Amino acid sequence: MNYCSVCGAPNELRIPAGDDRERAVCTACDTVHYVNPRAVVGCVVEHEGALLLCRRAIEPALGKWTMPAGFLEIGESLVEGARRETREEACAEVEVLAPFAQLDLPHIGQHYALYRARMLSPGFAAGVESLEVRMFGLDELPWEELAFPVVHFALRFYVEDVRARRQLLHLGVLRWLGAGSRYDAANYEVAEHLPVPLQGPHPAGP
Ligand SMILES: [Zn+2]
Repeated sequence: MNYCSVCGAPNELRIPAGDDRERAVCTACDTVHYVNPRAVVGCVVEHEGALLLCRRAIEPALGKWTMPAGFLEIGESLVEGARRETREEACAEVEVLAPFAQLDLPHIGQHYALYRARMLSPGFAAGVESLEVRMFGLDELPWEELAFPVVHFALRFYVEDVRARRQLLHLGVLRWLGAGSRYDAANYEVAEHLPVPLQGPHPAGP
């Protein structure tokens, strides 16, 4: 942030008094501009044993597949945001069934909150940010064409849970291993993975 959002004067990077890290501070009115992580919310939508994925019409990762997800808006709860993103990107109305994954991405200042959801009606279509929306069986997921590493790990957890007939909430931290493409899941690990058992067998299980 180069200019103060309060008075428009230039900012400078410095450590404010009593703080422990550099911030953008206004050179005229001393306003400190804090930048904090953002919440991304989305749904893993199940329908008749398949998952709904969207092919992105926007950068980054244009043309790659993801579950419907996006930034939480002011005034929304996490669940409301997840349902809205599913409506916007896949034109699908869903009911949230359970929390599924809460993954921190500290290297890019994002926190993902993903929910298991089911379609309230059978219709779906590509929203303005999607090129294409379709259902994938768990044996045909497009592993080589996923948009982001977080999508890869979330779908991997999901498939493992269905196969093991268990329902878990996955807490964890996605860490880049320090080399290689930041778009390649092979260059990441999920640290501090804490799978929390939820009641009952996985409803989508065989
Ligand atoms: Zn200012």
